[in-house]
Amino acid sequence: MPERLGIHVVLRDGYGRYLAGQRDMWTFTEDLSQAKVFDFIRDHISEQVEILRRDHGLELSIVSIDPVERYEVCDFCGHRTMPYSTYFDGKNYFCRDCLPAQASAMPANPS
Ligand SMILES: [Zn+2]
Repeated sequence: MPERLGIHVVLRDGYGRYLAGQRDMWTFTEDLSQAKVFDFIRDHISEQVEILRRDHGLELSIVSIDPVERYEVCDFCGHRTMPYSTYFDGKNYFCRDCLPAQASAMPANPS
Protein backbone atom coordinates (compact mmCIF):
# COMPACT_ATOMS: atom_id res chain seq x y z
CA MET A 1 0.00 0.00 0.00
CA PRO A 2 1.48 3.36 -0.95
CA GLU A 3 1.53 5.95 1.77
CA ARG A 4 -1.27 8.49 1.47
CA LEU A 5 0.84 11.57 2.06
CA GLY A 6 -0.07 14.99 0.80
CA ILE A 7 -3.83 14.71 0.61
CA HIS A 8 -4.94 18.19 -0.34
CA VAL A 9 -8.31 19.39 0.82
CA VAL A 10 -10.41 22.52 0.96
CA LEU A 11 -13.17 23.24 3.46
CA ARG A 12 -16.65 24.16 2.34
CA ASP A 13 -19.50 25.60 4.35
CA GLY A 14 -23.20 24.84 4.10
CA TYR A 15 -23.65 27.51 1.42
CA GLY A 16 -21.08 25.91 -0.88
CA ARG A 17 -18.47 28.56 -0.17
CA TYR A 18 -14.84 27.73 0.43
CA LEU A 19 -12.72 28.74 3.38
CA ALA A 20 -10.07 31.25 2.35
CA GLY A 21 -7.63 33.61 3.98
CA GLN A 22 -5.47 32.56 6.88
CA ARG A 23 -5.59 31.62 10.52
CA ASP A 24 -7.62 34.09 12.61
CA MET A 25 -8.53 35.98 9.42
CA TRP A 26 -10.75 33.43 7.73
CA THR A 27 -13.14 34.45 5.01
CA PHE A 28 -15.32 32.51 2.63
CA THR A 29 -15.21 32.62 -1.13
CA GLU A 30 -17.21 31.04 -3.91
CA ASP A 31 -14.08 30.87 -6.05
CA LEU A 32 -12.33 27.54 -5.60
CA SER A 33 -9.06 28.98 -6.90
CA GLN A 34 -9.08 31.41 -3.94
CA ALA A 35 -9.73 28.69 -1.40
CA LYS A 36 -7.14 27.86 1.20
CA VAL A 37 -5.69 24.44 0.46
CA PHE A 38 -4.84 22.34 3.49
CA ASP A 39 -2.81 19.22 3.93
CA PHE A 40 -5.30 16.84 5.48
CA ILE A 41 -2.75 15.10 7.69
CA ARG A 42 -0.22 17.82 8.46
CA ASP A 43 -2.87 20.44 9.20
CA HIS A 44 -4.90 17.99 11.35
CA ILE A 45 -7.99 18.83 9.36
CA SER A 46 -10.38 16.36 10.96
CA GLU A 47 -9.53 17.74 14.42
CA GLN A 48 -9.76 21.35 13.19
CA VAL A 49 -13.16 20.78 11.67
CA GLU A 50 -14.35 19.19 14.89
CA ILE A 51 -13.08 22.18 16.92
CA LEU A 52 -14.79 24.66 14.59
CA ARG A 53 -18.01 22.73 14.86
CA ARG A 54 -17.84 22.55 18.64
CA ASP A 55 -16.56 26.05 19.44
CA HIS A 56 -18.02 28.12 16.62
CA GLY A 57 -20.97 26.12 15.36
CA LEU A 58 -19.38 26.05 11.90
CA GLU A 59 -20.35 23.06 9.84
CA LEU A 60 -17.59 22.57 7.30
CA SER A 61 -17.29 19.72 4.90
CA ILE A 62 -13.93 18.42 3.78
CA VAL A 63 -13.46 18.33 0.02
CA SER A 64 -10.42 16.62 -1.39
CA ILE A 65 -8.92 18.13 -4.51
CA ASP A 66 -6.62 16.61 -7.06
CA PRO A 67 -2.94 17.33 -6.66
CA VAL A 68 -1.83 20.24 -8.84
CA GLU A 69 0.82 18.03 -10.46
CA ARG A 70 -1.89 16.13 -12.27
CA TYR A 71 -2.77 19.19 -14.31
CA GLU A 72 -1.16 20.90 -17.24
CA VAL A 73 -1.09 24.68 -17.18
CA CYS A 74 -2.15 26.55 -20.30
CA ASP A 75 0.66 28.86 -21.45
CA PHE A 76 -1.85 31.47 -22.55
CA CYS A 77 -4.57 31.86 -19.98
CA GLY A 78 -2.86 30.04 -17.11
CA HIS A 79 -5.84 27.80 -16.48
CA ARG A 80 -5.16 24.33 -15.20
CA THR A 81 -6.71 21.59 -17.27
CA MET A 82 -6.54 17.86 -17.26
CA PRO A 83 -3.75 16.53 -19.49
CA TYR A 84 -6.21 14.85 -21.84
CA SER A 85 -7.74 18.22 -22.71
CA THR A 86 -4.40 19.98 -23.17
CA TYR A 87 -2.71 20.41 -26.54
CA PHE A 88 1.01 20.80 -27.11
CA ASP A 89 2.21 22.28 -30.41
CA GLY A 90 5.93 21.63 -29.78
CA LYS A 91 6.46 24.91 -27.94
CA ASN A 92 3.43 25.71 -25.87
CA TYR A 93 0.57 24.07 -24.06
CA PHE A 94 -2.91 25.22 -24.88
CA CYS A 95 -6.14 24.57 -23.13
CA ARG A 96 -9.22 23.88 -25.22
CA ASP A 97 -10.24 27.54 -25.16
CA CYS A 98 -6.87 28.88 -26.33
CA LEU A 99 -6.17 26.23 -28.94
CA PRO A 100 -5.17 28.17 -32.05
CA ALA A 101 -7.08 27.41 -35.23
CA GLN A 102 -4.01 26.22 -37.10
CA ALA A 103 -3.15 23.70 -34.38
CA SER A 104 -6.57 22.12 -34.50
CA ALA A 105 -6.25 21.87 -38.29
CA MET A 106 -3.00 19.88 -37.96
CA PRO A 107 -3.15 16.09 -38.02
CA ALA A 108 -3.57 14.59 -34.58
CA ASN A 109 -0.37 13.41 -32.97
CA PRO A 110 -0.97 9.92 -31.61
CA SER A 111 1.42 10.41 -28.70
ZN1 LIG B 1 -5.89 28.63 -22.12
